[in-house]
Amino acid sequence: MKKDAIIGKYKKYVMPTYMHTKVVFAKGKGVKVWDIDGEEYLDFFPGWAVSGLGHCHNRVVSAIKRQAGKIIHVSNNYYNELQAGLAEKIVRHSFEGKVFFANSGAEANECAIKLARRYGSPTKRYEIITMEKSFHGRTMATLTATGQDKIKDGFEPLLEGFKIVPFNDIAAVKAATTDKTIAVMIEPIQGEGGINAADRSYMEQLRRLCDEKDMLLIFDEIQTGMGRTGEMFCYKHYDVTPDVMTLAKSLGGGVPIGAALAAKKVANTLSPGSHASTFGGSPIVCAAAIATFEAIEKEKLLDNTRKMGKYLKSGLEGLKKDFSFITGVKGMGLMIGLELSIDGTGISEECFKRKLLINCTQKKILRIMPPLIVKRHDIDEAIGILRQAMETEKRG
Ligand SMILES: *Cc1c(COP(=O)(O)O)cnc(C)c1O
Repeated sequence: MKKDAIIGKYKKYVMPTYMHTKVVFAKGKGVKVWDIDGEEYLDFFPGWAVSGLGHCHNRVVSAIKRQAGKIIHVSNNYYNELQAGLAEKIVRHSFEGKVFFANSGAEANECAIKLARRYGSPTKRYEIITMEKSFHGRTMATLTATGQDKIKDGFEPLLEGFKIVPFNDIAAVKAATTDKTIAVMIEPIQGEGGINAADRSYMEQLRRLCDEKDMLLIFDEIQTGMGRTGEMFCYKHYDVTPDVMTLAKSLGGGVPIGAALAAKKVANTLSPGSHASTFGGSPIVCAAAIATFEAIEKEKLLDNTRKMGKYLKSGLEGLKKDFSFITGVKGMGLMIGLELSIDGTGISEECFKRKLLINCTQKKILRIMPPLIVKRHDIDEAIGILRQAMETEKRG
């Protein structure tokens, strides 16, 4: 009854921009979430990869509580210790440079796009090459950068200066490069696009091309960052370092935060007055993000991600033997896609009925991204539920 009342209020008061599953979540801890009736769910897609440490990780909860009692927000025209500390943490874990703080993924990418435009301005270069099936956000600039038509529908005219080319195709990038091109923007592994990883040689050639032409290589690590693939940032799997890296999703252990890190040569491109965010990098979200880094370091979560990623993949390979509609298991670490020859929506819904949360993207990819703290027994439970859901699907 209470559930219907809440859903009723949404119908009346909340813009209908989301597809909703009919459940009201009230509580979470680790890999588990509970709805308002106390029903327990196993969460293998925590908040679209925002809750990378699982729900309500102790370190994050304590950091937020501690900071909330001191100071929640400080204007960016003053200094605060936590923003300084978090910027240092991000740099120490990646490459030398400087960070801009925003509140979401789209805003982090918006910063990267503005930075590229500024960098190209003296030489009148402004075009940015992005990839088919990419996802970079829902603001006007980031939806223009996104390589999926459905996201642009009805929002034309779009921003000028974006060229979209097939993924993993260096010839296409070269063909699209002109004397107006300033940057190439790419997700090392496409998330929404269906867990498509960039090839090593492709990444190396992108780096070479950008060096030759003095173009910026921008990695959108909003989904792949913060240990998700078994390295702190996915680019570490390749011997390629970007000029700009964007982060969001699990950076704050659940709180809204985005960041763009610019390498030394472009770290001062956005000068005072050229970009800003009122909320960006406030003490409370930075405290949560520092706690997130500390959890990953001190609890050896990269190691766990690699081990559990292997274990999960082997479980899924086991399912593949028994269900002919499974055509592949892909991804790195705990960013896994199960490729199907059929529409996966039904399986994902069956999993929900059996209290396992996963995602289906691009119709035929089941996206499975448990938190980095996941344990073997959680994976065993999830594989068991997936098997039942697939048997139901097979029976039709
Ligand atoms: C989620 C996502 C974004 C957008 O992030 P928002 O916080 O929703 O604006 C951008 N890029 C990638 C790769 C993402 O996964």
